[in-house]
Amino acid sequence: MITIDLHCDLLWYLSEKGIEAFTEASEAQITKESWERGGPDLLVMAIYVDERHIPHQKEAQALKMAGIYWNLAATGCYTPVLQRKDLDMPGKKALLSIEGGAPLESEEDLYAFRALGVRMLSLCWNYQNHLATGCLEQYSGGLTLKGETLLKKAQDLGILLDVSHLSEGSFWDAVKVSRLPLIASHSNSYALKPHPRNLKDDAIKEIAKSGGVIGVNFCPGFLQNPSAPGVVEQVVYMAELVGPEYVGIGSDFLGIDNTVQGLEHIGRWMDLEHLLEKAGFAKAEREGILGGNFKRVLSEVL
Ligand SMILES: [Zn+2]
Repeated sequence: MITIDLHCDLLWYLSEKGIEAFTEASEAQITKESWERGGPDLLVMAIYVDERHIPHQKEAQALKMAGIYWNLAATGCYTPVLQRKDLDMPGKKALLSIEGGAPLESEEDLYAFRALGVRMLSLCWNYQNHLATGCLEQYSGGLTLKGETLLKKAQDLGILLDVSHLSEGSFWDAVKVSRLPLIASHSNSYALKPHPRNLKDDAIKEIAKSGGVIGVNFCPGFLQNPSAPGVVEQVVYMAELVGPEYVGIGSDFLGIDNTVQGLEHIGRWMDLEHLLEKAGFAKAEREGILGGNFKRVLSEVL
């Protein structure tokens, strides 16, 4: 069994606070100590360039976060997951992703970031960029020509598409082009909580049809019931809609300002196992939701 969190913003957080913030004792949503105490085996760590760095410093910021990822790996905190066999290594593991697409301008950039370890990417954050329309725009939009070109190339290189943050127009454009399983690394159900960051039923079904996974997000604003049981309600809803084998967990820790009671930090992540059991999921289903389902996808592409 492997447990996996499909999305966190540890690298962004450490790019702001300094790498020491990982090992210092603090109340932060992720520290080395809390991850080791009760966190999942594998954390997907996103390179996320925030709005204030996008105009002039996006490449530098992205490289800084990739550097933090490799610096932490060098201290022995975790094994960087680059190929299939790395998933079976003992101890903690981390996989590099890109959230937002900001640093991706060309096919060469895809080669470069793949060489740095990136194995999953999203094309935009909440707003329109040069690749796609985000979910908080006032129009549904879609992929730009460059977005479509880079998506095809990324999948040729075995980099998964993360559809979290896409507008509906972008999502359905991506579906037309995509050949690999689709991942929504940190998104919830719109039917339970109507929020533009959440996925409507037809999108959840499409992700399942592609063989992908939806990672349920802990953000209180994306939950109908902002509590740990509310997170499980999201899992139950999606499992009933498409089957538990397409559901995962994407906490969004350090990308969210507030947390729900019972899942305040990564040290409580494994408490989900008990909550899923209480909700009636069998052992094999729990193992899938907590990581096995995303491992299935990674095993196909790595
Ligand atoms: Zn996000």
